[in-house]
Amino acid sequence: MRQIPLLDLKAQYQTIRDEVRQVVDHVLDNGRYILGPEVSKLEEEIAQFCGVKFAVGVANGTDALLLALDAYGVGPGDEVITTPFTFFATAEVVSRLGATPVFVDIDPETYNIDVSQIRAKITDKTKAIIPVHIFGQPANMDEIMALAEEYQLFVLEDAAQAIGSEYKGRKIGSWGHAATFSFFPTKNLGGYGDGGMVVTNDEELARKVRILRVHGSNPKYYHSMIGYNSRLDEIQAAILRVKLRYLERWNDARRQKAALYNELLKDTPLVTPVHGENRKHIYHLYIVQADDRDSLMEHLKEKGISTGVYYPVPLHQQNVYQSLGYSEGSLPHAEYMAKRTFALPLYAELEDETIRYIADVIKSYYQNK
Ligand SMILES: *Cc1c(COP(=O)(O)O)cnc(C)c1O
Repeated sequence: MRQIPLLDLKAQYQTIRDEVRQVVDHVLDNGRYILGPEVSKLEEEIAQFCGVKFAVGVANGTDALLLALDAYGVGPGDEVITTPFTFFATAEVVSRLGATPVFVDIDPETYNIDVSQIRAKITDKTKAIIPVHIFGQPANMDEIMALAEEYQLFVLEDAAQAIGSEYKGRKIGSWGHAATFSFFPTKNLGGYGDGGMVVTNDEELARKVRILRVHGSNPKYYHSMIGYNSRLDEIQAAILRVKLRYLERWNDARRQKAALYNELLKDTPLVTPVHGENRKHIYHLYIVQADDRDSLMEHLKEKGISTGVYYPVPLHQQNVYQSLGYSEGSLPHAEYMAKRTFALPLYAELEDETIRYIADVIKSYYQNK
């Protein structure tokens, strides 16, 4: 039986194999392996790509969030508003700095933070907002920035899933006071290992992140802050520079394939993604909703089709956050979606014919129910 993965990184590698091997060889021959010329060039290219002044490469997307918040000065006693419908790292970094994540429910159409509910959660302790462009679809950035300005809050875009997406014609990453990317292999721009980046127009913030990533030192061995070991390596940077040249093409292909799924699934009971107005969605994941999610997923598995749940437990219901005191039903949209949503296979190399096959399997499942 044919096996269809959720994401096929090997298929992508086959399309860029020669270029990747060439740049990796170049780095190996060159002898600079961490924070060298490839990292500097990648920083310049990502800054330019996003339309911002500064970019700082770090070890992963989690550290990008952590270092940006630390550089801004988030710490004990502070509150940071974010969404419960995201990967754990978004809130984890807030807690790691001794601050408290405050969760606001999501908009059930886009799965992004419901901006209309943010104001009610702002207190004297609120220091920052972290919108997450979940699944590759931008959050409502102009409304978030207007609120942030009113209350003097720092906005950090968690753009781990959204590199290349746009809001009102402007690239994600250029809206907040700073933004972070992850280059984890499965992200739209992924390395063959870990990597991350902070982008910002704030020179002072960029300077601090640069110092924090090397143990708070500048120059080397002279420490002005308690920092981290969070460096990006040359091999990853060189590979990411190759892949960055393909990113828009790959994102376009994902968008086309998502549109094909939407078309093929429109007469089924599945709820397909809503592509919000004024947004360029990059479909990091193609997320649908089903009442009978688990049995449909089981059926697809039997037919060789991989799927995944993003995310099964909203963050306010995680064990570690029980102490925050959210009761069941407190963030109803996030809780409801955690029971219904799942991802279908999507990547730039996925054949349209395979999408038709997956849609047919879904249709026959509902016909035979
Ligand atoms: C992947 C991801 C992160 C963490 O990035 P890593 O590179 O894995 O540390 C943070 N936030 C979101 C929304 C993510 O999807």
